Amino acid sequence: MIIRRQTREICIGNVRIGNNQPVAVQSMTNTDTRDVAATLAQIERLAAAGCELIRLAVPDLEAASALRAIRDAISIPLIADIHFDSRLAVAAMENGAQAIRINPGNLGGSAKLARVVAAAKLHGVPIRVGVNSGSIEKDLLKTYGYPTAENPQSLIESALRNVRLIEDLGFHEMKISIKSSDVLTTVGGYQKLSKLTDYPLHLGVTEAGGLIAGTVKSSVALGILLSQGIGDTFRISLTRDPVEEIRVAFELLRSLKIRERGPELISCPTCGRTRIDLFSLAEKVEQYVQTMKTPLKVAVMGCAVNGPGEAREADIGIAGGHGVGIIFKKGEIYKKISEDQLLEVFLAELQKMEDERQKS
Ligand code: SF4
Repeated sequence: MIIRRQTREICIGNVRIGNNQPVAVQSMTNTDTRDVAATLAQIERLAAAGCELIRLAVPDLEAASALRAIRDAISIPLIADIHFDSRLAVAAMENGAQAIRINPGNLGGSAKLARVVAAAKLHGVPIRVGVNSGSIEKDLLKTYGYPTAENPQSLIESALRNVRLIEDLGFHEMKISIKSSDVLTTVGGYQKLSKLTDYPLHLGVTEAGGLIAGTVKSSVALGILLSQGIGDTFRISLTRDPVEEIRVAFELLRSLKIRERGPELISCPTCGRTRIDLFSLAEKVEQYVQTMKTPLKVAVMGCAVNGPGEAREADIGIAGGHGVGIIFKKGEIYKKISEDQLLEVFLAELQKMEDERQKS
């Protein structure tokens, strides 16, 4: 069982973070924030996939103004991502941002930071202090060197220095992130940081890569940290449709038995016994279960000879054959269906199971 690290608690909108609250899944839109319709459409898809916190880039005042209409139309809390310009942070909060992500050191000085913190107090908005390997102050790099797995100190000092700047202004509603694109630096950095502060931590591997590289890097780094009870919110960062980030995030949480959402898909790798197009079948079933909420085990297996037995623990499954497939439940054959009807009948059975479990 994973013992979560004790932290103080903050709230972003209606999502409570830290202090043993569920680890929250975050993503970031990649639409132009000024394009309200496109951004809303993407957030809707992300929320349907399970995204619980959404961050939006705010590169100019027009984007900050667009937050109002976006915030009013969505059901998950909105975080504004700000770089360099304190006016954008203030404008984002005036337009309904429920949290802001800043690097306090790059806002242009203490007076500007004070204005941002005053606005955060006024609007009751928490701040994520987000530093990364590329934003570390020169003096810290000189003292501690570039962050590495063995010595992530400059990254940690940079975060804590920026946290102190905000604490000195009498503000404590914060979470912290220290991002690196290197897996072991990420792990080492967060492990050390978690012992030095009780603020909630947001985890992520920055610039992790495309679907495969990004999934592997993020899952290794975040999997180690989450399994050690470190991390209160996280983002799987992929060069991809952000909905994929949410799918990976929940698979990661499920694999560590931290949280479950929707069905778990089990599918065999296929072998010489496979007589159906299992890749396409598995893909279609995977797509279908994305919006389901019940944590069922669903199996898609290549053959009726071994499939039901190999996937005995599945609540429901299909297995292919020679023109005829079977639907099975807990390893027992439930129905035989001609191959051309197999997917349709299976999805109907799956939906029936979901409806029954949701009712009970
Ligand atoms: S379930 Fe059948 S097709 Fe799939 S790997 Fe096992 S034996 Fe091969």
